[in-house]
Amino acid sequence: MLNIVLLFLIFIAIVAVFGRFRSGPRITRRDGGLKKPRICPECGRYNLQGGPCRDCSSNR
Ligand SMILES: [Zn+2]
Repeated sequence: MLNIVLLFLIFIAIVAVFGRFRSGPRITRRDGGLKKPRICPECGRYNLQGGPCRDCSSNR
């Protein structure tokens, strides 16, 4: 029974870590292995579609 509880706690910890990584407003990753996503230099949001940022262009 203790193993199940431990696994559950570890699972929650992993989800929390991933949640922090995803919800981080400005992630400065410099590992060249992964294909880095485009981030708008002005608002810092991900721009996966390319081209002008939707958030910035809609505000203007
Ligand atoms: Zn933007």
